[in-house]
Amino acid sequence: ATPVAILVGTGRGAERGILITGPEALDRTAGVDTILLDKTGTLTTGHMRLTGVTTTPATDRARALGIAAALERGSEHPVARAITEAAEGDAQVPMLSVAGFRAHSGLGVSGSVDGIASGAGRPAFLAERGYTIPEQLEARAAESDDTLVAVGWDGEVRALLEIGDSVRDGAAEAVARLRSQGLRPVIVTGDTPRAAARTAASLGIDDVHAGVSPEGKLAIVRGLQAGGATVAMVGDGVNDAAALAAADLGIAMGGGTDAAASASDLALTRDEPAAIPDAIALARATRGTIR
Ligand code: ADP
Ligand code: MG
Repeated sequence: ATPVAILVGTGRGAERGILITGPEALDRTAGVDTILLDKTGTLTTGHMRLTGVTTTPATDRARALGIAAALERGSEHPVARAITEAAEGDAQVPMLSVAGFRAHSGLGVSGSVDGIASGAGRPAFLAERGYTIPEQLEARAAESDDTLVAVGWDGEVRALLEIGDSVRDGAAEAVARLRSQGLRPVIVTGDTPRAAARTAASLGIDDVHAGVSPEGKLAIVRGLQAGGATVAMVGDGVNDAAALAAADLGIAMGGGTDAAASASDLALTRDEPAAIPDAIALARATRGTIR
């Protein structure tokens, strides 16, 4: 796009809550045919709530929540807030401190709580770190449609937290507009296949990749590009940053992390799904003004 086109686009975008941070990308938007949509925080509200806690028989529920909350205080993932809020609202839950905290993007968190090596995150993430998962918790995980966070310490997963989220108002309409703009919508999420399928069904999307790591999201973008697609990606999290940067057009949701915004070409300051098709329309119109 020419500097004048970008200025015009920038002005119009600002009015509609769309910030153009990577003007070079606008030249590619006319060809965009596929749009990858992150689930948590993009299609769903990201205002998550703890809906269930299942523990092993020997585990105290309040202690498990205290350990999870201690770890999650250092994370900016939407599930982290659900867990810390539930813990803070429950007088039974002890306040514990963490040493050696680490956030593992798209996977979970780890650290030493009260001197005991502990972790919270995707069940598969804890399994990879050598934690055993009791049969009873595996069974609960297999039947839940919610987002799952396993909590473990001392080599064993001892609690399974279920965290509920809802599809954003206007998400179905936004997806319908994207289709009418000629785009194929695809969900890419680190969440479980069941949680992803529930969101996909309510939006009428049948192309879904679940259980995807941040590197997996990047690989999906590259794979589609290698197959000839021109790809837009919409995300909000640190876990989306690599895919946003690799996409032909990266779009960061309003209310998302700085890492997502700085990896993107467009940043939506309006934190609502309708801003996504608006951004596509604006990007196309801005490019059109060069001709
Ligand atoms: P999405 O792609 O839908 O935005 P993420 O990739 O951010 O989802 O997360 C995938 C999964 O990893 C979550 O559903 C959760 O189980 C786990 N996870 C990610 N971050 C955390 C965290 N801070 N604490 C616990 N679990 C986490
Ligand atoms: Mg997300």
